[in-house]
Amino acid sequence: MRFHDIIGNQDVIERLRRMVDSDKIPHALLLMGEPYIPKLALAQAFAQYIHCENRIDGDSCGRCPSCLQHQSFNHVDTYFSYPIFKKGGSSTTYCSDYAKEWTQFLTESPVENYERWLSIIKNDNGQPRIYTDESDVIIRRMSMSSYSSRYKIHIMWLPEKMQPQCANALLKIIEEPYPDSLFILVSNSYLDILPTIYSRTQRIELRRPSTDDIARYLEQKYDIDHQEALSYAAPADGNILLAEQGLESGSENREFHEYFTQLMRLAYSVDLKGLRKWSVAVSDMKREKSCRFLVYASRMIRENFIYNLHNPQLNYMTHDEEQFSTRFAPFINEINVQGFINELQLAERDIHGNANAKIVLFDLALKMTILIKKKA
Ligand SMILES: [Zn+2]
Repeated sequence: MRFHDIIGNQDVIERLRRMVDSDKIPHALLLMGEPYIPKLALAQAFAQYIHCENRIDGDSCGRCPSCLQHQSFNHVDTYFSYPIFKKGGSSTTYCSDYAKEWTQFLTESPVENYERWLSIIKNDNGQPRIYTDESDVIIRRMSMSSYSSRYKIHIMWLPEKMQPQCANALLKIIEEPYPDSLFILVSNSYLDILPTIYSRTQRIELRRPSTDDIARYLEQKYDIDHQEALSYAAPADGNILLAEQGLESGSENREFHEYFTQLMRLAYSVDLKGLRKWSVAVSDMKREKSCRFLVYASRMIRENFIYNLHNPQLNYMTHDEEQFSTRFAPFINEINVQGFINELQLAERDIHGNANAKIVLFDLALKMTILIKKKA
């Protein structure tokens, strides 16, 4: 992770950069802010910058052996702790019991999502914790000399989840740190951190990324234009994950729109060969997705019926959907609208109930050829 990859909070990055460049790295740093602000990624980018052997343009190089280790989450002088569940039957509980899951979590997204972490470590045994056992490991590691670089760095995600005994055991080494060691605590809820720990850290509060920051990120990641990126970033109000979810469901929407227009064109021209191919393509989707498509198609029928009323305030369609409606809407009228919706709902129910999707969809397609010809 490089500073370059961090979304928003550029002023904080500048502060961190100056700490390293002026050799004034604190021994305990607290990065705090609301959930869904990328704080853990920033902690990693900071650690990578400190360890980089060839810093360039105010960032880590991304290519030296140290950066490569950081980028695969196994830098020899960087450690992580994070909340976990006690594994059944074991007498000790260490974060390293979940090392594989942790790497998966870090790899998945540049924004840490606590709910996602819980779903990866799957366990319903109450609240996840950073257990007291972990403090022994942390103290041992931080007391040893570093392997390949000057600084030993320990990144703790969600210090508010430490068992009190764990926090108390760490107090001493946070107050009287070993030389060239750095604790980076990353908190979603600083008020829940033990006050004696909180007061011994240098604190930096992070803000939600701006709409522009998020839009730029979406543009690069999904290769879309700025205007489209803004349309997903603006309603997300600084929550990158929400913006991405909106975009991903938007892309499913576009796919569904394509299948919907195909179905209506093929039905109108009674192209049986084409309709058979269409029903195979839609039945190749996962069952749940086919069902979502049929719900989408019902909505489109309703939207097109309403479109004929020429009252734009009643319509909820994207630009592409509306383009299609200018020609298609006249085919949906008070004689056939309910028939379309009934058939689509019936097909959805059948596929949901495990009927053979290919047969259901072809049958549906044939019915569309009749319905589309019914005139008011
Ligand atoms: Zn480097």
